[in-house]
Amino acid sequence: MRASADRIRLDIETIAGCSASGPGIDRLTFTPEYWAAVDYVAGQMGALGYERKTTVHGNTRFRREGSEWAEPAVAVGSHLDAVPHGGRFDGVAGVVAGVEIARLLADQDDALGRPFEVIVFAEEEGARFGSVLTGSKAFAGRLSDCELAQLKDADGTSYLEAFAESSDSAATAVSGVVGAGDVASYFELHIEQSVVLETARAAIGIVQAIVGLRQYRVVYSGTANHAGATPMRLRKDSLAAAARAIVSVEELSTGATVGTVGMLVSEPNAANVIPGRTLFSVDLRDTDPLALQAVGDAVLKRIRDIAEERQLQAEVKMTAESAPVVLFPRLRDSLRCSAETLGIHYLEMPSGAAHDAQEMAGVTEAAMVFVPSIGGRSHCPEEDTPYEAIALGVDVLLGAVRAAGGPPGGGREGSAGGCAASTQGVQ
Ligand SMILES: [Zn+2]
Repeated sequence: MRASADRIRLDIETIAGCSASGPGIDRLTFTPEYWAAVDYVAGQMGALGYERKTTVHGNTRFRREGSEWAEPAVAVGSHLDAVPHGGRFDGVAGVVAGVEIARLLADQDDALGRPFEVIVFAEEEGARFGSVLTGSKAFAGRLSDCELAQLKDADGTSYLEAFAESSDSAATAVSGVVGAGDVASYFELHIEQSVVLETARAAIGIVQAIVGLRQYRVVYSGTANHAGATPMRLRKDSLAAAARAIVSVEELSTGATVGTVGMLVSEPNAANVIPGRTLFSVDLRDTDPLALQAVGDAVLKRIRDIAEERQLQAEVKMTAESAPVVLFPRLRDSLRCSAETLGIHYLEMPSGAAHDAQEMAGVTEAAMVFVPSIGGRSHCPEEDTPYEAIALGVDVLLGAVRAAGGPPGGGREGSAGGCAASTQGVQ
């Protein structure tokens, strides 16, 4: 039994139709458009005999009616909120993958030894309340109610107020934090959002780790002065110093580390005035914590050295930090094995973007599958992935879900299809 690209297309097109009109998809968390998308998923899951529960933190969970909610499940999830003018696949592909697996399991009369669950995490993008991975973080117990209450949208409405005002009061609200052993294994399918798979002509990606992040805000303060009357040797040009620093971020980001200066503000920003104050961001990412630290330290030293050489003041503040997350080896083995059994060409790769799976990895075994993004485009109306490619990803995921679920009456040590755990496969 293989996943149906036609059913997946219908799901994704219907959910895209739930967005506000305009270029691309507009579907912020807890808006009527958001709940319409959740309701569509609930309709599909309801037809398969799944019960819907909404957690007190706004996540939506589906399990077969009659199954124990406290019993460890194999879960597949992602998100349905979108960035403004976003694409139709980001997050949606992962939720639809869960729905399609529920259909395939139903066709085979639920041949799992434990419950199967589909989870829709709220506010993954942070586009409404300004904080990414909000739902999954709360689910993993890493966001207190107090912190959640402080998250507000542009109109001053808090996350919890927006949820309480908008949610379907008929839905059963359940405890928001995943209990010990509630979810035995978590899988997420996501669009790649880059060109690595397309370039390698690989059908799917098996994610080894999700990168850690270090983000800084740097301000160089020099002296604004007349562009004509000030000799070069007497200048304290903050923008020229920032230019040197930006080049060094690129030069020092070696190996697998990626370094970006995405934001730059220079004052007074006038053609005939030497810049006196320049602010810029530095964003460094790597899956190796030691490499990330080494590059981060080298970049900060260079930023300070440049200020000293030019007699400027440098103010450096770390604005964000997250540790790399290595995804669970046994589940990755299952995904590899599933791909090899199906003869699907895969690539093992890191994820440069954050995903709900990294929060789930803190509380349970978690793994991810990427499907190719055409032209690497994402977070824009042009975002696209062939439906057949998503179906292949679902096929691979289904094999791993079966291995994690184990046979009925058996444990979760179900057969992974006889593949050697360390096989390198077709890469
Ligand atoms: Zn996403």
